[in-house]
Parts: sequence; C-alpha cells; structure tokens
Amino acid sequence: MKLSCKEIVRRLPAYIEGGLDRQQYRQLTAHVRSCKHCGIVSDSVRHTMAIYEDRKLLEFEPGLTQSVPVIPHIGK
Ligand SMILES: [Zn+2]
Repeated sequence: MKLSCKEIVRRLPAYIEGGLDRQQYRQLTAHVRSCKHCGIVSDSVRHTMAIYEDRKLLEFEPGLTQSVPVIPHIGK
C-alpha cells in the first residue's frame, strides 16, 4: 500500500515518537527519504517536537505533541 503525502504527514508525530509498527515505519522512512516535501515537513515536525520535549515539563500537557502546529503547505 502506498501512502499519500497527507497520510505521511499525519503519521509523522507517531513516526518520530516510535509509535508505528515496523511496516509503517519502513513505509514512512522510504517515503520521507524519496519525497522532498515530506523530508522538509519531517524535519520541521522533529524540531517542533524537540522544542516541546524541552519545555513540556514546565508548561505543556501530555498529548499536546499529537497536534503539531507547524505543518507547512505541501503540494498534494
Ligand atoms: Zn511525500
């Protein structure tokens, strides 16, 4: 099954947190490596989540990283 960019982006937080099964993980890895848009989005989600990780002990509720606010417009 081939995932669209939209589906990839939706799974990125789980992907980065290690919440996907092995097959999905492989699909996302392959897609993110071959797709320029998703590569960029993946990087920005990663950075955003790293910032939340740093701060969440102080001010964020658990689960907030599920909704990542910084998702740039992608082509598809
Ligand atoms: Zn893509």
